[in-house]
Amino acid sequence: MPQYKTPLRDMKFVFNELLNSQKHYENFEAGKEASPDMVDAILEECAKLCEDVLAPLYQSGDTEGCHMKDGKVITPSGFKDAYDEYIAGGWQGMSHPVEYGGQGLPLSLGILKSEMVSTANWSWGMYPGLSMGAMNTLYMHGDEAQKQTYLTRLTEGTWTGTMCLTEPQCGTDLGRITTKALPNEDGSYNVSGTKIFISAGDHDLTDNIVHIVLARLPDAPKGTRGISLFIVPKFTPDAQGNAGEFNHVTVGSLEDKMGIKGSSTCVMNFDDSRGYLIGELNQGLNCMFTFMNTARIGTGLQGSCAAELSFQGALRYAKDRLSMRSLSGKKAPDKNADPIIVHPDVRRMLLTQKAIAEGGRAMLYYAAHKADFLMNAETEEQRERADDDLGFLTPILKAFLTETGCEAANLGVQVFGGHGYIKEWGMEQIVRDTRISTLYEGTTGIQALDLLGRKILLDKGVAFRRFSKELSQYCKGKSAYVTGKQRGKMKSMISELSSLNLQWKYVAVRLVFNAMRNKDEVGAASVDFLMYSGYIVMGYFWAMMAEKSYEALAERAGTDTATEEDGFYQAKIQTAEFYFARILPRTKTHYAAMMSGAKNLMQIEEKNFAFL
Ligand SMILES: Cc1cc2nc3c(=O)[nH]c(=O)nc-3n(C[C@H](O)[C@H](O)[C@H](O)COP(=O)(O)OP(=O)(O)OC[C@H]3O[C@@H](n4cnc5c(N)ncnc54)[C@H](O)[C@@H]3O)c2cc1C
Repeated sequence: MPQYKTPLRDMKFVFNELLNSQKHYENFEAGKEASPDMVDAILEECAKLCEDVLAPLYQSGDTEGCHMKDGKVITPSGFKDAYDEYIAGGWQGMSHPVEYGGQGLPLSLGILKSEMVSTANWSWGMYPGLSMGAMNTLYMHGDEAQKQTYLTRLTEGTWTGTMCLTEPQCGTDLGRITTKALPNEDGSYNVSGTKIFISAGDHDLTDNIVHIVLARLPDAPKGTRGISLFIVPKFTPDAQGNAGEFNHVTVGSLEDKMGIKGSSTCVMNFDDSRGYLIGELNQGLNCMFTFMNTARIGTGLQGSCAAELSFQGALRYAKDRLSMRSLSGKKAPDKNADPIIVHPDVRRMLLTQKAIAEGGRAMLYYAAHKADFLMNAETEEQRERADDDLGFLTPILKAFLTETGCEAANLGVQVFGGHGYIKEWGMEQIVRDTRISTLYEGTTGIQALDLLGRKILLDKGVAFRRFSKELSQYCKGKSAYVTGKQRGKMKSMISELSSLNLQWKYVAVRLVFNAMRNKDEVGAASVDFLMYSGYIVMGYFWAMMAEKSYEALAERAGTDTATEEDGFYQAKIQTAEFYFARILPRTKTHYAAMMSGAKNLMQIEEKNFAFL
């Protein structure tokens, strides 16, 4: 079974060397607390928790799963103890405001913690993970009393949160929800209805659960403009702020699903349950976007974490497993066969996993810097800019990193051969657990429509053009010094990136024109456009990582301590070369597909799809 080992060297490379987070932290108060020593201490401590406490529950949590007892959900053995240890360590409120009990450290530091937790045990991590979205929603849209009552408990982790959107008849199309909210004289509401697929909807980790529920008032406008957002606690807080009376929130059933079996997925019934409005009436979806955006980036993280975990398992196996001899001559003459890592095809799989895991990490940490700007904006203009930048990246992170994360998890099974298919090794669990990531929090198709339809067409591509300009400036800035013997390869990376960047802008304009002729052109091109964009964005980060590595190697030249560190930087450059040679060319296929138009999808008549 894959034993998670925190990739601290790579995390620190991205955090410190690539993104220079300490310099970034000079921009705002919260950042000044995060001194290098503190960051190192946090990483070391969190790594211990993840490796020693959470990772050992990964496979047992899958085997045991959740079950119901007396109408309540019981999580797998060990989950509660691990949760108690997690909140005793103050991990939940690490990046949340001090005034509500948090430690006020930057969000971008929090993502390193989330990465470790999520890679060690995604199912377990969903309980505190869902709470994060509830915390951000309450912080941004709740009133002071709500923050004092609920946010403080969520921040200390003694209560957890959920996101209750989906109903049996709708998941994507939330304008069709029917859960009702009837106003009471005291300003509260009675909420009634059924929600399905609710993650962490019930469990035995805490003594209360704060449900964030979408519902509509009887006289509300139809569609998304008539949706409001409510806090519906499982137990209504008493005068001291503790879990009080039962609020008629019950679990209809527990879903029996493909993976993430340690995470409870519940049908939740609200039966005249007391609810409290968050924000303005009929503005629920806007408020909920705070939750969904947090969750979407968190889901992108799931893809990248799956790639890392699967890569670690596959790499260990590929060094041990013997099979035949290398075509270019024996590599392990002392053994009766060579380890499979000598075979080019096995290396192709391992390098694809490595490129996805490390490229995804860089993209996520970069986006987390944007989130820092959003949380610490001092003017409306700064806030809007950070929001737009993050809004542009969010669908790419969510969909591209989960699609490629699933690919990496599948490759992990492939490296193991038939053993990958056998439960004992744990590789098939990663595939099962990760498969959900392209579905929840808006499917890949829906993220793609958000990117092309909203962020490019409706918002006139403001943030897209800003990102593309950053990329263009990067390429221009490098052209002067990518010459020279050692940097020859950088030159081809930069010129490839530069021409793709030009093509990216051209494609966006072409698709806008196509959409004016026929709206189906948007849906027909959107997923290819998203994946194409994702490969370019990841290419940008691989180029920068190669550049930083060349610089580091040049600085180290002549030192006779050249060992592991040199190997680290050389591997970065070699993985970047692999990415540019074997992964980035996938943009060509996506380009051809998205430019081929909607006709080849729409011309076939529905009745002619099959003759059964
Ligand atoms: C394990 C698990 C955990 C979950 N956790 C939560 C949770 O905590 N809270 C919560 O509220 N929900 C949760 N969900 C629900 C999840 O978010 C939805 O299942 C998801 O949003 C998709 O909705 P749906 O299943 O209704 O699919 P549908 O909306 O019916 O979509 C079906 C297919 O049609 C496509 N499609 C739909 N509309 C369009 C369109 N306009 N254009 C192009 N394609 C379209 C979709 O991409 C998809 O491929 C969870 C689901 C699962 C399985």
